Amino acid sequence: MSRYDIVIFDLDGTLIDSDDALVRPFLALGMAEGDITFGHPIEEFCAAVGIDVDEYVSLYDTDVVQPYPGAAGLIDGLDRWGICSNKHPLSGTAELTRLGWNPEVALFSDAFGGAAKRLEPVLDIVGVDAQRALFVGDTPHDAECAVAAGCDFAWAAWNPRTAATAPMGTVLTDPRQVLDLL
Ligand SMILES: [Mg+2]
Repeated sequence: MSRYDIVIFDLDGTLIDSDDALVRPFLALGMAEGDITFGHPIEEFCAAVGIDVDEYVSLYDTDVVQPYPGAAGLIDGLDRWGICSNKHPLSGTAELTRLGWNPEVALFSDAFGGAAKRLEPVLDIVGVDAQRALFVGDTPHDAECAVAAGCDFAWAAWNPRTAATAPMGTVLTDPRQVLDLL
């Protein structure tokens, strides 16, 4: 029997290499690169920096972002998987469609009322106990979501930005290593 019934992923910076695409609209709207950080609910971050979220979403290019090497193969090898993301639903859904990815559940920022995402609603939808779910993400906020819900967590340290923070715990350097944890 495998250790987990489902793997839940963050999307940006975890399954897809989206950092550059996420930054571009902020730069176009006048932000300084050094003021842009990752992993926040998009509505909250836009409000905090005085950017109209609809304008941001209209400038975000949903056609360019690619999966990290090994991510598509990982997805193919999983029986059950889902997405829990702070991304805007229009951006995230368009990317899942373009990539031909069909997670069992995909919750985006609208599912959390624009506030920070939580894993509990995802687990409720799929009917899996927290102890039987693994969450994979690239930011400390992701790790906190896993702790709050009682899920095990693995770092997507194939993202160089994440690796540079020297995360502690289960640190993976290739998406395919998720399969070794199951
Ligand atoms: Mg992320």
